[in-house]
Amino acid sequence: MSAPTRAAGALRPAELIQKKRDGRELTEAEISGVVLAYARDEVPDYQMAAFCMAVYFKGLSHAETHALTDAMVQSGETVDLSPLGRKVVDKHSTGGVGDKTSIALGPIVAACGVPFAKMSGRGLGHTGGTLDKLEAIPGFSVELDIDAFLAQVREIGMAIIGQTAELVPADKRLYALRDVTATVDIIPLIASSIMSKKIAGGADAIVLDVKVGDGAFMKDVDSARELAEAMRELGMRAGREVVCELTDMDQPLGQAVGNALEIREAVAVLQGEGPADLHELVLGAAAHLLALSDLDIDAAEGSTRAEGAIADGSALAVYERWVRAQGGDPDLGALPQAPVTRLVHAREAGYVQRIATTAIGEAALGLGAGRLRKEDDIDHAVGILCLAKRGQDVATGDVIAEVHAATEESAEAGAAEVSAAYRIGLERPEDVPIVLDVIA
Ligand code: URA
Repeated sequence: MSAPTRAAGALRPAELIQKKRDGRELTEAEISGVVLAYARDEVPDYQMAAFCMAVYFKGLSHAETHALTDAMVQSGETVDLSPLGRKVVDKHSTGGVGDKTSIALGPIVAACGVPFAKMSGRGLGHTGGTLDKLEAIPGFSVELDIDAFLAQVREIGMAIIGQTAELVPADKRLYALRDVTATVDIIPLIASSIMSKKIAGGADAIVLDVKVGDGAFMKDVDSARELAEAMRELGMRAGREVVCELTDMDQPLGQAVGNALEIREAVAVLQGEGPADLHELVLGAAAHLLALSDLDIDAAEGSTRAEGAIADGSALAVYERWVRAQGGDPDLGALPQAPVTRLVHAREAGYVQRIATTAIGEAALGLGAGRLRKEDDIDHAVGILCLAKRGQDVATGDVIAEVHAATEESAEAGAAEVSAAYRIGLERPEDVPIVLDVIA
């Protein structure tokens, strides 16, 4: 029998830390007490950091993960999308390098008649964030209140905005703390962090893109599967339909890494001219979302309709309407352009064996495409085009990448980093599909 718990008012974080440290299971009341007290600023960071580290070593049971997720959702407001009168879909990626999927996916799904309502995040470490990419579009605002968010989904069919301060405030604090205490890569904490935001965001059906590989939090398929299953279970428990895709992040997605460059590439997908891996990933996610929607179709029909929305220009038209609705200029000519471009050449002949993906993300960060500190400004124009992808046959001196930089010096440094990230060798590497597995 577990020891009687104290009343919430008498919460003693040190006792809970000790209990977890010793490998014992916490009760729902204990987890909820500590999380809600932390969100109210009644538990200091040092105790919460110790708690997260205890969880790193001892894990959380299913019941504890459920309690944590529920407490995070309860820490703030939730969005009610029911006034739309439709089944609303959403998509989330666990984060990668060059991941601009949602920017092409939303307009395709909306063009097929399914409401797409998404709250996104900013870049994290070497991974880029959808909000930062959208803000590369001159005038684009990611700050809509919930009424405007709903009105836009009703009128345009889609909206992508920043998470409001009222939504899951416990995660906001906890995530920032985990980021600086080496406690990010803990499956139950990642699962509850992501799913509390998705549940509070209100969508009925969600596609989760769990990235696997060098550029992702999950480095191998087994841990990605464990995370996917944990998130799916949390979503279904909250009455949401969830499909998880495990997708390759052992090389950047598409070619473009960096905000304005990625917007151009997402639009290229809508014009039917996107890189093959990105096109396939976007189409696959669209097919799952359409199959989860109230259209009553299967994924094969979803894929046909998504292809159709690209081919007939309707997805591109939704993109333009969406960008205008959020104050932006959809003309690609309006996107910022970096003043310096430096080509990166192959040092030897052979096949591209590997592109060190985190190193590419960090090179983009060094150019100014992301933030080293929370308060840093982003240079939306800079970035990298990884023109040669894994498996491509190159000759010595071929252009394999382009660095877009603010200055000659940063271009030089970026080009050296990108060159070092490419491994070229004589053996042709095995083909790796972009979608490694689907858990439905
Ligand atoms: N993304 C999140 O939102 N939370 C995590 O814990 C990790 C990635």
